[in-house]
Amino acid sequence: MKALVAAIAFIALCASAALAQTTPMITVTHPGAQPSAAGSAENFTGSVRVDSRFQGTAPARIGGGTVTFEPRARTAWHTHPLGQTLIVTAGAGWVQHWGGPVQEIRPGDVVWIPPGVKHWHGATASTGMTHIAIAEALDGASVAWMEQVSEEQYRR
Ligand code: MN
Repeated sequence: MKALVAAIAFIALCASAALAQTTPMITVTHPGAQPSAAGSAENFTGSVRVDSRFQGTAPARIGGGTVTFEPRARTAWHTHPLGQTLIVTAGAGWVQHWGGPVQEIRPGDVVWIPPGVKHWHGATASTGMTHIAIAEALDGASVAWMEQVSEEQYRR
């Protein structure tokens, strides 16, 4: 009986050790762990900063970052293959889908952009805006970029 208990204890120890080796660790990334990145002039108009970029590990395909737009700054027109969620954290912004009205977004607002919907988002003409942007990737891509939002389109 003693030998059986010892054997079971040994098996349990081995199992917990194996579990510890295969259980992925929780990752906490602190501010400043990665430098701020500038939004590329190809895909953005005006001054845009991206912080706290994140990417889930497979099979998760979630990714995103915190995006800060100076007044008048905005994305180019684009789509997301699996949609996008925006959570506004500061300032005042605008979002618009192709052919639709410009909608104002404020801190606390949660915006869902459905898959494949052509749209842009950015600051208002007078006030900067920060949002957290979250999107899932399809075949490695979470966004398809298109033409810039012209001044005429932005003024509406
Ligand atoms: Mn978007």
